[in-house]
Amino acid sequence: MAKPKKKHVRADFRKNRSARARQGDWTRKFKTESGEGEDAAYQERVSGKGELSRKRTVRGVTAGDDGLGVALDVDEAACLRGRVLAVHGLISTVEADDGAHYQCAVRRLLKTLHTDLRHVVAAGDRVLFRPADNSEGIIERVEPRHGVLSRDSRGRQQVLVANVDQLLVVASAAEPPLKPNLVDRFLVAAEQGRMRAIICINKIDLIDAADVQPLVGAYSQMGYPVILVSAKTGFGIERLRRRLQGKQSVIAGQSGVGKSSLLNAVQPGLGLAVGEVVAETKKGRHTTTTARLIPLAMGGYVVDTPGIRQFLLWDVIPQEVAGYFRDLRPLVSRCEFPDCTHTHEAGCAVKDAVADGWLDARRYESYQRMASGEGYS
Ligand code: GDP
Ligand code: ZN
Repeated sequence: MAKPKKKHVRADFRKNRSARARQGDWTRKFKTESGEGEDAAYQERVSGKGELSRKRTVRGVTAGDDGLGVALDVDEAACLRGRVLAVHGLISTVEADDGAHYQCAVRRLLKTLHTDLRHVVAAGDRVLFRPADNSEGIIERVEPRHGVLSRDSRGRQQVLVANVDQLLVVASAAEPPLKPNLVDRFLVAAEQGRMRAIICINKIDLIDAADVQPLVGAYSQMGYPVILVSAKTGFGIERLRRRLQGKQSVIAGQSGVGKSSLLNAVQPGLGLAVGEVVAETKKGRHTTTTARLIPLAMGGYVVDTPGIRQFLLWDVIPQEVAGYFRDLRPLVSRCEFPDCTHTHEAGCAVKDAVADGWLDARRYESYQRMASGEGYS
């Protein structure tokens, strides 16, 4: 990655601080908030028009693909590095690099810089924080993010999980029966979020592995790794472990396919409740999407959150679906009409490819369902 450019960031102050403060008070207050030696980096301007319109120029660097990576000058020697495991309102649980956990608030300046975001920090964030007594601390800096899983919430970007390396799509070979169309939906979500996807077919002990080979072949050909596993017999668990090691993975899959069982198999002693019916309620956009990272002893983290699984399934716009089907995508430019929906049009390269056997008929059917906005079943 290119080194981020040094630049000044202009921060607008919230208007709710309308009481006119004397500059001295303000500066002193700010010093205690921001740490020593930094005050030279800020300027305050006061407009003559009644209400204060405060602007400060903050010296720092911006980086990252999402404009969030505002790296402020902080006293690094007084800070620890860590990763946000979960965010509960204003307090975040941070795991320091030595494994200790801290309950951290967020430095006020960071919040000011990020007024256009619902939350300044998200699960998965790498942060620099200043530890205090009683395992508490203040988050001073959020490092630039990659692999952000976010959604628009009334025009604002809400980051659900930051720094996601891959999406582990879990399905079961039986009980519940394998649903390739559902796997396709999760793959579309992964493509949309630009996450690497890995397909994991569990409960392989219940079937003859040869039965799923055509499906495994089809996905492998598209470049998706497929792992056959059994949480019950331990088959394939070592392979799965290698895939998860050192990575931050989001786990997706229908209830009952064995996600908790697999995590328990990957990390004995984890003790996740198995067979528990997780409430995947349909409360629209307010369904809980609070993500929690589970640290793995071998290195790496997994995120298993019902709300995120649901979110992944519903936030794709029908017209965009073709672009997220790896096997369909290269054909689209050859259709006669630029706005071809690949359903009924003449001269559709996608339909031709199905007729000629180049495109898997099942995948095409799966595409049609998704593009028509149909729910999964
Ligand atoms: P989750 O809802 O995806 O987390 O699924 P659970 O881990 O709670 O498992 C659901 C059910 O499937 C439980 O009764 C498990 O014992 C069972 N199960 C999980 N993995 C396997 C497996 O590999 N083989 C078989 N036969 N059953 C499994
Ligand atoms: Zn077409």
